Amino acid sequence: MDKGLACAVCGGKPSIKVSYLDSYLCKEHFLEYFERRVLSTIKYFNLIEEGDVVAAAVSGGKDSLSLLYVLKKFSEKLGYTVFGIAVDEGIQGYREYKLKALKKVAEKISVKIFVASFLENYGLTLDEAVKIAMRRGFEYKPCSICGVFRRYLLNLVAKELRANKLATGHNLDDETQVFLMNVLRGGVPNIAREYPISRGGHEKLVTRIKPFYFIPEKETLTYALLRGLETPFVECPYVEYSIRHGIRRWLNSREKEQPGIKYKVAASSLLYGEIFANIDRSLSSLQTCKYCSAPSTSEICRACAFRIYLGLTPGTIRLKIHEI
Ligand code: SF4
Ligand code: ZN
Repeated sequence: MDKGLACAVCGGKPSIKVSYLDSYLCKEHFLEYFERRVLSTIKYFNLIEEGDVVAAAVSGGKDSLSLLYVLKKFSEKLGYTVFGIAVDEGIQGYREYKLKALKKVAEKISVKIFVASFLENYGLTLDEAVKIAMRRGFEYKPCSICGVFRRYLLNLVAKELRANKLATGHNLDDETQVFLMNVLRGGVPNIAREYPISRGGHEKLVTRIKPFYFIPEKETLTYALLRGLETPFVECPYVEYSIRHGIRRWLNSREKEQPGIKYKVAASSLLYGEIFANIDRSLSSLQTCKYCSAPSTSEICRACAFRIYLGLTPGTIRLKIHEI
């Protein structure tokens, strides 16, 4: 066998090419390499401590299934408990399939999953919100409404279920895309808010952690595949509206030309984040929304602001959660 096409550790059959290492890895050594890096991110940034109650934000996509699997796997060794929270945005022809896949994997690895829907908690689905937004000519794209409403619900549900950490499946690709978006939008100080563990506290904010911060998306997908975590290939119909889509394509083309460039962008993000966090301490202090008393960077939180835009009533939500 051509040596270049063999696992760099054992010489066995390769399962993945890790371009930035200019190496191939077999299934066993890739899984080990993947888990070792996640564990070292958890330890280095002190993401999880013994006794923690970790809520994993899960969507049923490959990233989140990998996250759930890995968090469950480490839970005994590190002494924490874990469960999953999924948000059903109400995206017809998409979310229902992903939730089905999530339920199957969660049962297989014995993790509880709690679901909160936009419809039951905000009074409308994302599909309906998008129609209203388009009719009224709002500048906000579906992903902005979706992201704000989802993050808001995840925090509420995690708090309600007494989690003290909220883990998300954000990977290296997500982090580098967000960094570039912040640069392009002139939102450079926002970079300080993006970190493997959330800075800044508020009694109603559950600390967010990103165990996959240094893992490329391609590897979270390969991990899910090799672990047999199946999910149907359906794409959100709104993905094309996201400005992230273009940045993602551009970054992937750069990475192809110059393997490892995403790590360089992530390093810049961490560095600028440190600098801004030190310059402006107010970046890490949060206010309280005047309508719902949720943590907010301004007087009105974005979820309440969007509810007002959409003609809904802002304020405290009476949470409805289901276990699946
Ligand atoms: Fe929501 Fe946009 Fe993701 Fe679709 S692509 S689930 S609208 S954030
Ligand atoms: Zn609010």
